[in-house]
Amino acid sequence: MKPPRFDYLLPRSLDEALGLLAQHGEEAKILAGGQSLVPLLNFRLIRPTYLVDVNEIPGLDGIRVDDGRLVIGAMTRQRAAETSAVVRERSPLLAEAMPQIGHVQIRNRGTVGGSLAHADPAGELPAVVAALDGELVLKSRRGERRLTPEQFFVGYLTTATEPDELLVEARVAITPPRTGTAFMEVSRRHGDFALVGVAATVTVDAGGVCTTCAIALTGVGPTPVVARDAARALVGVKPTAEAYDDVGRRVAAALRPDSDLHASAEYRKHLGGVLTRRALARAVQRVRHEAASKERR
Ligand SMILES: Cc1cc2nc3c(=O)[nH]c(=O)nc-3n(C[C@H](O)[C@H](O)[C@H](O)COP(=O)(O)OP(=O)(O)OC[C@H]3O[C@@H](n4cnc5c(N)ncnc54)[C@H](O)[C@@H]3O)c2cc1C
Repeated sequence: MKPPRFDYLLPRSLDEALGLLAQHGEEAKILAGGQSLVPLLNFRLIRPTYLVDVNEIPGLDGIRVDDGRLVIGAMTRQRAAETSAVVRERSPLLAEAMPQIGHVQIRNRGTVGGSLAHADPAGELPAVVAALDGELVLKSRRGERRLTPEQFFVGYLTTATEPDELLVEARVAITPPRTGTAFMEVSRRHGDFALVGVAATVTVDAGGVCTTCAIALTGVGPTPVVARDAARALVGVKPTAEAYDDVGRRVAAALRPDSDLHASAEYRKHLGGVLTRRALARAVQRVRHEAASKERR
């Protein structure tokens, strides 16, 4: 399959790119890694008049720590985030989720920003960013906007990005001390999109009591689902297998997934509960392991 005809635009600066987006608006599509966009073009599911290739713009990639947050430039290749020592150290949840995105060939080219902007309902990164209290930074000639994941992801393959805006970075919480995280998913084959995935983060104080917990799921709705009420049930208690079961049951009960070709709604609800229970257990086990090895040192 070949794509429909389009005019190819290659801005060399952010300002030039924002100018092109302001000028062409709805008629333009941004080309990042092309791993989702090119199939959409080839299947003629989209027919933009212009493709704005943002691969040559300096400063849109890179990973840094800024103002207590981990900042990932939109054009950072997924593989670069996966292999980054800073990501491993500051955001083990993100590091654990990255290799579960497609295959290494896709991650070599696919970008962190492209995955977030594409907003696949089974994508790993939207759930990770939601669990990590993330912010999505959008720029246009009109200025800058910072959106929470709940504001940014508005529906199936749809975000709140305006046609003249470019996603420039994602900012996520740095994992604090005494915090364990886990990302778990079930997919039919390695490299497939997740049927369901769960991102969990749990902080446990020196007395072994959970002080904060966040849970976000992918594959159970048009946007990532943040299980805020269920996560609250773990706060203030000493995490036990019974407590994980209870939270898992609450998550499953609150989910309203659709049935599709890949799985029934019932199965997705079931997976949401089971993966939540397992992810919480693994996250807490990691805090305890870390605390025990510190004591031994
Ligand atoms: C076989 C296969 C398996 C895959 N498996 C998975 C998987 O398991 N999990 C998963 O999450 N993904 C998976 N993907 C998708 C992959 O992660 C893509 O890389 C990602 O969805 C899009 O990133 P990209 O950089 O390639 O963006 P592109 O394909 O270039 O763009 C995707 C969309 O985002 C828009 N866009 C891109 N960058 C920006 C920006 N900075 N600002 C505003 N809009 C922007 C584009 O206009 C387009 O609409 C898979 C892809 C393939 C081909």
